[in-house]
Amino acid sequence: MYLDLTDVLRDSGTSVERSIEIPAGTVLEEWELTEPATGWVRASNARRSIVVRGAAKTAVKMECSRCLCEYSQPLEFDLDVTVPISTFNSFLGPAAVEEDENDEGDELTRDDIDALFQEHSLDVSELVRQAIVLAAPIQPLCRPDCEGLPEAKAYNDVKDDPRWAALQALNDKKSGLN
Ligand SMILES: [Zn+2]
Repeated sequence: MYLDLTDVLRDSGTSVERSIEIPAGTVLEEWELTEPATGWVRASNARRSIVVRGAAKTAVKMECSRCLCEYSQPLEFDLDVTVPISTFNSFLGPAAVEEDENDEGDELTRDDIDALFQEHSLDVSELVRQAIVLAAPIQPLCRPDCEGLPEAKAYNDVKDDPRWAALQALNDKKSGLN
């Protein structure tokens, strides 16, 4: 899915917008969409930079960090990328804009930028993929109260067993004597 920036690149102050619709089942490198990605994206020419804004929601297949089962993780995120207009020099021609090192986009690596833009188009799928990387939980849980693997659950059940409580009380008493 691409957003054509041809007209936006030519005139500062202009912008172009489109809706995002990436079907469920699409695989964006390591992410498989379990629900369609929907939202909007707008690219604006701010004279020295191209400002990309938008918002989208989807769900991706993830592995629960406790029980290791696969589940569908809903995600909602903003799209927010600014790149120097000199990124497009090869398309605009060498005379278009002088290179300005201070104009580098925030936190984006050269590779990120290269992956996002194909000549004069924004790769919306790649934009969404990069946003998923940032939005996905570091410790994914299939549900907030996931009890984890059966072994872990068995351990927790034993800990809560009243017969252990008696032993625990004895233990507490012993440490109280010291
Ligand atoms: Zn789980």
